[in-house]
Amino acid sequence: MSLTPRTVKTYWLEHAWLGTHVEPGVALDVSDDGRIAALRTGAAAPPPGAEVLRGLTLPGLANAHSHAFHRALRGTVQVGSGTFWTWREVMYGVARRLTPDTYFDLARAVYAEMALAGITNVGEFHYVHHQADGTPYADPNAMGEALVEAAAAAGIRITLLDTAYLSSGFGQAPNEHQRRFSDGTADAWAERVSALKPRGHALIGAAVHSVRAVPAEQLGTVARWAEERQAPLHVHLSEQTAENDACQAAHGCTPTRLLADHGVLGPGTTGVHNTHLTDEDIALLGGTATGTCMCPTTERDLADGIGPAVRLQQAGSPLSLGSDSHAVIDLLEEARAMELDERLRSRTRGHWTANALLTAATADGHAALGLPDAGRLEAGALADFTTVALDSVRTAGPLPRLGAETAVFAASAADVRHTVVGGRHIVRDGAHTLVPDVPSALSTAITAVRT
Ligand SMILES: [Zn+2]
Repeated sequence: MSLTPRTVKTYWLEHAWLGTHVEPGVALDVSDDGRIAALRTGAAAPPPGAEVLRGLTLPGLANAHSHAFHRALRGTVQVGSGTFWTWREVMYGVARRLTPDTYFDLARAVYAEMALAGITNVGEFHYVHHQADGTPYADPNAMGEALVEAAAAAGIRITLLDTAYLSSGFGQAPNEHQRRFSDGTADAWAERVSALKPRGHALIGAAVHSVRAVPAEQLGTVARWAEERQAPLHVHLSEQTAENDACQAAHGCTPTRLLADHGVLGPGTTGVHNTHLTDEDIALLGGTATGTCMCPTTERDLADGIGPAVRLQQAGSPLSLGSDSHAVIDLLEEARAMELDERLRSRTRGHWTANALLTAATADGHAALGLPDAGRLEAGALADFTTVALDSVRTAGPLPRLGAETAVFAASAADVRHTVVGGRHIVRDGAHTLVPDVPSALSTAITAVRT
């Protein structure tokens, strides 16, 4: 018996983004191990038997930061005024109503929405672990398992970033809303998470919710758990100035410095937001090659501020993108928002090229989720890709060779025609192949958890 992968399917891509440019006429072979077996340029016409993907095919998009249940807040949190902290109270109301069953239904629908938006891998920053009063479920990982199963049901990959959330603030026990997030200690967190096993579509990673939520002396436990397994480690970092002020009051340093002093920073780590940083923070993050996940649609929705993404990248921090609170789920919008926010601040244009923005949304996003062999159209990579229409009302007109610029600066999730994960066609002609009616699935699942 030969173990050599064999080609099982060929796609013909009318146009393909190959990292540096758009190539017309590309034949892409998928092997039975779900990888790209070969890529042939100069294919002016579809080879016999090939499935034709018209438009611009991109590598699959990586949504590097998600809290699936926040999708239930869409709309409701836009009524009235307030701050991040008042928004958080509404969010806790939904978190209280989640069970493994209702969370499976909600996450399956949300991940299906992501597939329709061209997302092939989600980094789920997951902290709703236990029953509402803090008692573990019979399976202490029932909630995490529900998310892993939801991703499978929606046909996408997941990196479950199981999150340590142990305290309400510096030196404070979890409040009534946060009891179900807490394992009590980082050691107990590590014991629980160690029982989660990776599988074909799922990786298990770690997260520190924030320096507010994990006592300083326990940060090293989470960092070591990730280090020993070469697993990605994510952390919300300096999204709010109040967090910086509280950290200064408790520890006399910035959150970034605290993480550095406890071994949390490094190339396997991604700081999410990285919004309010000092010059020293930027040097620490860049110098350790710690990644930065920008979530521009959430950061603007929550009035967080604009993070120094240009300076972080120049200092050595790779950039990824996430839809976080799911005010919208559209990675193309996240990509252009990063550039457009910087234009508003600087009153100059062109901080990133379309190629650079797409790299953040694809290869660098996957790397931040522990999948360095995804997010690129090349032989050997996972056969994960998505096709954006170049003939829609938003995208018609520009020359096809400007497809990357058109996709990033004019297209939306509504222009996604196809999504393929591991060689399997999950979205075909704009319709999900596993979840027949995604809007209805969202509506039903959200009604079940709405307060
Ligand atoms: Zn978040």
